[in-house]
Amino acid sequence: MIEYPRLILHNGKELPVLRFHPWIFSGAIKTQDSNIADGDVVEVYSAKQQFLGMAQYQKGSITGRIISFSKQQINTDFWVKKIEKAFLYRQFLNLANNPHTNVYRLVFGEGDGCPGLIMDFYNGHVVFQAHSIGMHKCRLDIAEALKIVYGTQLKSVYDKSSETLPNNYSAGLKNEFLYGSCNEELIVIENDVKFYIDFINGQKTGFFIDQRENRELLGKYSKDKRVLNTFSYTGGFSMYAANSGCEIIHSVDSSAKAIDLCNKNAILNNATNHEGFAVDTFDYLKDHGKNYDIIILDPPAFAKSRDVSHNAVIGYKRLNQMALQNIKKGGILFTFSCSGVIDKKLFYNTVTAAAIESRRNMKLLHTLSQPADHVITPNFPEGEYLKGLAFYVE
Ligand code: SAH
Repeated sequence: MIEYPRLILHNGKELPVLRFHPWIFSGAIKTQDSNIADGDVVEVYSAKQQFLGMAQYQKGSITGRIISFSKQQINTDFWVKKIEKAFLYRQFLNLANNPHTNVYRLVFGEGDGCPGLIMDFYNGHVVFQAHSIGMHKCRLDIAEALKIVYGTQLKSVYDKSSETLPNNYSAGLKNEFLYGSCNEELIVIENDVKFYIDFINGQKTGFFIDQRENRELLGKYSKDKRVLNTFSYTGGFSMYAANSGCEIIHSVDSSAKAIDLCNKNAILNNATNHEGFAVDTFDYLKDHGKNYDIIILDPPAFAKSRDVSHNAVIGYKRLNQMALQNIKKGGILFTFSCSGVIDKKLFYNTVTAAAIESRRNMKLLHTLSQPADHVITPNFPEGEYLKGLAFYVE
């Protein structure tokens, strides 16, 4: 039995933890055992010596991330149980072992009881991304657990944490396979739409899986339409529009690498009416934005922290205004924000302010969010980040 060092909280600071919020802020800690290193597992106690949870320790504003609210040994067996639970939930969602979709998020951090851990499943290959040192230190146990849960279905586990860990820890850290390899040109299907995935060189874990349901919805509106997909990355939305019989589909992304893969995806899906442009969205909208029935705006997070959220609002407003000035009568605007610090209401108000300034009347068709494999729980509202709106534009 391993004995873990202890953190003791100030009186009253146990309350959020008792409501199953998994973060221990530095200011909540009254005392701690000596020699606790970043990434170590600790036991957390209230000032009155009540056991609260097992946490991973990391100096910083969030000093403890709780991985279990009961006393446990943290070993391969522990991770097998965690991953089994996450897998069964994806099975319940009809994502795991679905003949039409073989790409999904297997673990979404706090939503799956694994703060600081993201794992995406790409047709047998799992991309592991640690956002905390504690999770990175457990990577071999987690890879072992994946083998046990998936059995022969698992082809590889790729650790892609070098960009997501703090600099002082990640210096010299290389992304690498923890198990198996991927020598094939990897193709996944999502609702029967095909995509090449380059998880080694691509952005994030390789694909923006969180837009799956919104892409499907776009497909339903795309027939015979002229569609512009901006911030397209590798053409997630574009391929759905193409497969749904749109008249033309244009993809715009500032990354030439993304557009290269997007063009390859168009060939893979026999989309002869697709064209990709490796340019800035703002420039494209200014010069070529006219003549589209549907415009999709899915920019990267304009604000990563609350102190810059004002600038982000200005950015979202300008972008939406440019699209609205251009979109054809009777068209549709699909607009998104993945900034956690811009909440639903603020985003809605920003887009409607853009509509007022563009003098366009709109009707709200859909309020959109992230799919259920990007788990939102009542005890961790911070997990909700993707917001979308679909408007009919008169
Ligand atoms: N909708 C995509 C995901 C978009 S991610 C999907 O479904 O897969 C955001 C993308 O915006 C990235 O590919 C990034 O390269 C691109 N990007 C960032 N700034 C940009 C800009 N100013 N103009 C065009 N593309 C931009």
